[in-house]
Amino acid sequence: MKVDNPFAGRIICGHCGSTFERKVWNSTDERLRRVIWRCNKKYKVKGEKSCENKHIDDRVLYQAFINTFNAMIENKGYFIEKWKKGLKSENILARYKFRQFIGSLKNAEPIQSFDMDLFFSIIEKITVYEGQRIIVTLLDTMEIECEIE
Ligand SMILES: [Zn+2]
Repeated sequence: MKVDNPFAGRIICGHCGSTFERKVWNSTDERLRRVIWRCNKKYKVKGEKSCENKHIDDRVLYQAFINTFNAMIENKGYFIEKWKKGLKSENILARYKFRQFIGSLKNAEPIQSFDMDLFFSIIEKITVYEGQRIIVTLLDTMEIECEIE
C-alpha cells in the first residue's frame, strides 16, 4: 500500500486555519534542495486576502514529532494512567483507540528518527503558528507545544 506523505492534510495553518501544502525547492546543487510546507492561502486568490504565515522546513516537522514522542515516553506513566481511564469508555471505538495508544507507548524506546507508523497511530494534526511555534495535537485531543530552535 502506498502511503501519502505523513504530513499531507495534517499540517494546519495557525493563522488562517487552512492546510499547508508541500513544496520542493529545487536546485542544481542537490545540497540546496529543500522541502517546505506552506499555507495554501499563501498567494492571493482573486478578491481574497493572502495568508501571511511563514513556511516551515519539513525537517522541523519530523523533529517535532521525534521530540513529542520522546517527551511522551519520558512521561509514559502519566499518559498510560490517563488512557487507562479511556478503556472504561462505553464507546467500543474509543476503547479500541485507547488500547492502541497504550500499546504504542508501553514498551517503546526513545526514537532517533521519524517513524511513520507511530506518527499515524498517535498524531492528529500539527498546527504551525508564526514566530516559530507549533502545536502537536494527539489523537486523544491532548495538545503539546513545541518551540523551534
Ligand atoms: Zn494560512
